Amino acid sequence: MNPRRTCKPIQIGNVTVGGNAPITVQSMTNTDTRDVMSTINQVKELEDCDCELVRVAVPDAEAARAIRDIKKGISIPLIADIHFDYRLALMALEAGCDGLRLNPGNIGEPEKIKAVAQAAGERKVPIRIGVNAGSLPETDNPRLPVARQMVEAALEQIRLLESMDFDLIKVSLKAFDVPTTIEAYSDIAEKIPYPLHIGITEAGTPRTGVIRSTVGIGTLLYMGIGDTIRVSLTAHPREEVIAGYEILKSLNLRQHGPILVSCPSCGRTEVDIVKLAGAVETELARIDKPIKVAVMGCIVNGPGEARDADVGIACGKGKAILFKKGEKIRTIKEKDFISVLMAEVERF
Ligand code: SF4
Repeated sequence: MNPRRTCKPIQIGNVTVGGNAPITVQSMTNTDTRDVMSTINQVKELEDCDCELVRVAVPDAEAARAIRDIKKGISIPLIADIHFDYRLALMALEAGCDGLRLNPGNIGEPEKIKAVAQAAGERKVPIRIGVNAGSLPETDNPRLPVARQMVEAALEQIRLLESMDFDLIKVSLKAFDVPTTIEAYSDIAEKIPYPLHIGITEAGTPRTGVIRSTVGIGTLLYMGIGDTIRVSLTAHPREEVIAGYEILKSLNLRQHGPILVSCPSCGRTEVDIVKLAGAVETELARIDKPIKVAVMGCIVNGPGEARDADVGIACGKGKAILFKKGEKIRTIKEKDFISVLMAEVERF
């Protein structure tokens, strides 16, 4: 695994992105931003699963103004997502947003971007240049590969911001196509000193979207690229946050709550391990500590196969072995599987 790419950290509200700061997990609300109460409630749900930054769509002036009241009800920094109308970015800044995301492909003239940069600079609010493969600005060379077009579009906006002495910049280059996304990020990672927000856009429903995102985000992180992540899913945004942490945990980049180890089961299994693992996963959702918990499908191989688990059960017919770090502790009855395991987790 490559060491993390070095970059200039930026500050979004009280959260640092880039530098040596932990790689953050963010999401985006799917409520109507003008509906302040619904948006606050959804952000609170995201806060409950430790989302660290939240983005809200700002489609009109009413939504931009709503940011002021939304901010009063939430604790994590809020990023305003602006398409087309740069005046909405100015209004969102006025309303107290902590970060801005602009899509250069649909903001248009440099003068408008400059106006936003000036207002953001005065407030020390970072701007994410969010290039999306589906809405690239017009190019003189349409034959360029899409990844290159994405990089060129971002570099043009970055140069524009830099020409105004604005360097509170974060960049994303998202495509639906995973190799295109990886190529674009790998290219720009060597060209700019700014933090990178990584993700696969319109990745899909949880079943396919988590896989696409994991392949794309995971590959980039393994290459040392990425300072904040968003897993885009057609689902409640809570699922994005959960998936984001799972990706970071699987690369040992963050610790976040328990890790469940469960075997795929095989012809030796004598219990309904699918149901049991699902029940344990539900129970573990309320636990904060980083602990590795195993649910294994047979007594013979289970403790050995999950040797590095902090605590686990290896289940046979009507009974299970409770084990810690591969060592057998005692035998428990089927009716006590979950309660005994969870008691050990709590005690850990
Ligand atoms: S732990 Fe036992 S049941 Fe599970 S996959 Fe391994 S051998 Fe099969």
